Amino acid sequence: MTDYSCLYQRMANTLLADWAQQLPGQIEKRLDPKRYGDLPKWQAAVEDMPVVQPVSYDLNRAAVRIGDGSELDEPQREALKQQLQQLHPWRKGPFELFGIDIDTEWRSDWKWERLNAHIAPLDGRTVLDVGCGNGYHCWRMRGAGAELVIGVDPTPLFTLQYEVMHRYAGEQGVYVLPLGIDDLPAELAAFDTVFSMGVLYHRRSPLDHLLQLRDCLAPGGELVLETLIVDGDENTALFPEDRYARMGNVWFLPSVPMLERWLRRCRFSNIRTVDVTTTSTDEQRATEWMTFQSLADFLDPDDHSKSIEGYPAPRRAIIIAEKA
Ligand code: SAH
Repeated sequence: MTDYSCLYQRMANTLLADWAQQLPGQIEKRLDPKRYGDLPKWQAAVEDMPVVQPVSYDLNRAAVRIGDGSELDEPQREALKQQLQQLHPWRKGPFELFGIDIDTEWRSDWKWERLNAHIAPLDGRTVLDVGCGNGYHCWRMRGAGAELVIGVDPTPLFTLQYEVMHRYAGEQGVYVLPLGIDDLPAELAAFDTVFSMGVLYHRRSPLDHLLQLRDCLAPGGELVLETLIVDGDENTALFPEDRYARMGNVWFLPSVPMLERWLRRCRFSNIRTVDVTTTSTDEQRATEWMTFQSLADFLDPDDHSKSIEGYPAPRRAIIIAEKA
């Protein structure tokens, strides 16, 4: 299991100190093999990976690179590739680990490029990434200068994918915790930047999600929100009958004007929509590292402007706002 002792030390004597006290119990509760039957198998795969001292890395590139081809011999690399594949599906990336290209379902670097020029510089900042998946963007945030990045994601497989990178990159100030946003203490007011990307539409109460994000921010801190939207005016939102693009657990897809109104009513200021992009089947697709169905299978085969259920095809906005 990930050793978070360095994180706990960094949280001591800061606004995060009280939360640090609760974390070991919260993590243990979440990583319960009774809830996640494959957990021991995944943990064994990670533990069997070659033991190598912290290696060279480059976090500031599209394929986050940890280790290079010369740092493992060929049999070790082949063994590592097979162990990594036990952690299938790899959704967020890409990564390059000791010369192994992990070509993930998503080109998550494209999302990063869309937001990077618009956010407040991350230098020296303490950052929270809510619903961070395996932490791909957390490494990019650190690569962009953040002092400390904490990601939370309740899906244990993704935390184990993070653990692989942490194991080889060493203590870089990047930590992914196997938790959901509801595990964060109320009114933390501790983070300079909070990211919530690809999470809002999974929340049954989107306004409560925005308020929770606001609570996590220090005064003057910045929210970076990315979510599915639909075209329309400030009175428009899509609320699917059941699945949306084959995803369960999808609730509200507002128009951009409605989303901006939600943010205003949650007392955010300086609200800017910096990007709206329709997701392409080049950005989200099946690969060797994610062999299940992907976006092309979730769209109407005769009309890619529609989801398979007949709703508008996935389109995403990035909105930046400030806690006054
Ligand atoms: N932020 C990443 C991943 C988005 S996928 C990106 O933009 O690429 C959405 C993620 O939200 C999933 O990994 C899922 O496990 C996570 N998630 C779902 N419910 C959550 C909750 N209550 N709190 C935090 N994360 C959640």
